[in-house]
Amino acid sequence: MVVVGGGITGAGVALDAATRGYSVALLERTDYAAGTSSRSSKLVHGGLRYLQNFDLGLVREALLERQLMVKLAPHLVRPLPLVVPAFEGARPDRLVGVGLNLYDVMSVERGRRRARRGKRARTLGAERRATKAPPEPGAEAATAEEVTGEESWSPERHRVISGEEVLELLPALSDREPTSGYLFYDCQTDDVRLVLTVLGEAERFGAVCANRLDVTGLLERDGRAQGVEVRDGESGATFDVRAANVVNATGVWADELRPQELHDEAELPRIRPSRGTHVTLRHAELPLVGGAIVPAGSGRSIFALPWLGHTLVGTTDNDYEGPLDHIEPSDDDVHYLLDAVNEFFGSELTPGHLTGAFAGVRPLISTGDPKKSVDISRKAELYETSSGMITITGGKLTTWRRMAKMTVDRIVEREARDAPCRTHEIPLGQAISVQELPRVEGVPEESYAALASRYGHAAHDVLALAGARGELAQPIVDDLPDLLAEVALAARREQALSIGDVLMRRTRLGLLAARELSGPTADGFGSTADGPVARVADVLAGELGWDVARRQAEVEAFAREASAEGIVRS
Ligand SMILES: Cc1cc2nc3c(=O)[nH]c(=O)nc-3n(C[C@H](O)[C@H](O)[C@H](O)COP(=O)(O)OP(=O)(O)OC[C@H]3O[C@@H](n4cnc5c(N)ncnc54)[C@H](O)[C@@H]3O)c2cc1C
Repeated sequence: MVVVGGGITGAGVALDAATRGYSVALLERTDYAAGTSSRSSKLVHGGLRYLQNFDLGLVREALLERQLMVKLAPHLVRPLPLVVPAFEGARPDRLVGVGLNLYDVMSVERGRRRARRGKRARTLGAERRATKAPPEPGAEAATAEEVTGEESWSPERHRVISGEEVLELLPALSDREPTSGYLFYDCQTDDVRLVLTVLGEAERFGAVCANRLDVTGLLERDGRAQGVEVRDGESGATFDVRAANVVNATGVWADELRPQELHDEAELPRIRPSRGTHVTLRHAELPLVGGAIVPAGSGRSIFALPWLGHTLVGTTDNDYEGPLDHIEPSDDDVHYLLDAVNEFFGSELTPGHLTGAFAGVRPLISTGDPKKSVDISRKAELYETSSGMITITGGKLTTWRRMAKMTVDRIVEREARDAPCRTHEIPLGQAISVQELPRVEGVPEESYAALASRYGHAAHDVLALAGARGELAQPIVDDLPDLLAEVALAARREQALSIGDVLMRRTRLGLLAARELSGPTADGFGSTADGPVARVADVLAGELGWDVARRQAEVEAFAREASAEGIVRS
């Protein structure tokens, strides 16, 4: 099987197929997760909002996946308390309460509902402990076990909390004196690390995954797809990859890979891209322990979430027409988000306060009607052309496993094989507790928790490198936990080939420390001789054998990429 596209959907298909005994090659045009899968709100969630559209099947499916992901990757997918505050003694909005009731009911497998009722009293204490003291930025988030006191996480029912409890979770609201609020749970992840972890598991089961390989066309014989034509983005060489099955998992690009003849245009999706923008802030500028649902006018709401020691605010949702390779956050979007946050928290944040900004496009499927993008279903759709190519798109980060199952089930069925899906029982990476990690001289204490949740057990390898080469024990950006050893590991183990691969995806510094990367001027990326970009370039040059000219060209390429992505706002 050849899988085209290395976002979460392609990664999931590669894992599912490899575990069912297929020989799999996954080809990614640029870098893993470089498309939409690095630009999400990082929530593994049912999507409370979709209840408004009565997308009950989607919400239920996503809620069950959420629960499974915490079990399969507890280091990477973590429960997150979310709050809908109320002010001036007003009752929390009853409609929201109705939605949360439904969310509670749908989030639990039928057999477990009764058991949960009894659990409530037991978990309340643990939950309070987990939310009491606001952690320092970069500190370890509570694990599923710590939050629930149980091995397998299942979310606590939503409840009404007092104004003080709201403030413990949302210290940024201190000027507004909330009087009560709803507390409920969803989960959060690092979207790129989820993709890389799923790919890592796929490789463990024998899949071969490669980035910088652009699929330029389908190989066809007698009207049947027989593989793909490929162009190597590094060398420019072209070659064919033959395969009995071709899966197109190219997200927002899904309507570009086409057989020579289509019997019917309905054999392929029509994608209607919708742009979503996020901005990030220092924790101190908008301190949050849990997430907040923030009203944003016209019945819309956005999230303000704690994420990797920072605060993440998003998202917008508007039709998008424009180039898909670099999606820039528009100024209007940035102002819309800041206005909503300032109004809600009583803050005075400006674009100058932002530590980063990013945008992505949702691969929404056009049904031909003029619905607003917010109202279009996030349901995944599978298409099969008469040539046999299968396209899987739409959906959400949360539902990747179901999308992969749907795809591979179809192939197994048409080949009349007996190969059931196994991904519900395959751990993703290997969780580790921070205490198990050896302390290495020079590594800042706050890095250990970040390493444990990013890599799980593989954090040992980062630390071994930092121990062997002391200069790699240093952070990439002062006061942030990401280490130079991660740069070397990204090149050796994770196919990172450029500065952007490391700063935008293997670490998330491009999203969280854009100003430190850009130096004194907004587009001065790499201009400071001993700045973070230069340090990353030096480590990559050593790992990948770049000479002086190549190193300089790579720094310039990153400057172009970061500018095109619009990560620094002024
Ligand atoms: C703003 C925003 C917020 C979101 N928030 C959430 C959230 O909080 N939770 C959630 O569950 N979902 C969320 N989503 C949805 C989720 O991010 C997407 O559904 C998911 O990431 C799509 O993954 P994908 O693999 O299908 O597409 P992509 O991640 O875009 O992957 C497609 C890949 O195919 C590659 N490709 C394209 N053409 C070719 C070719 N010819 N040859 C080789 N490779 C090719 C691309 O380079 C790309 O890497 C959000 C989406 C957006 C835009």
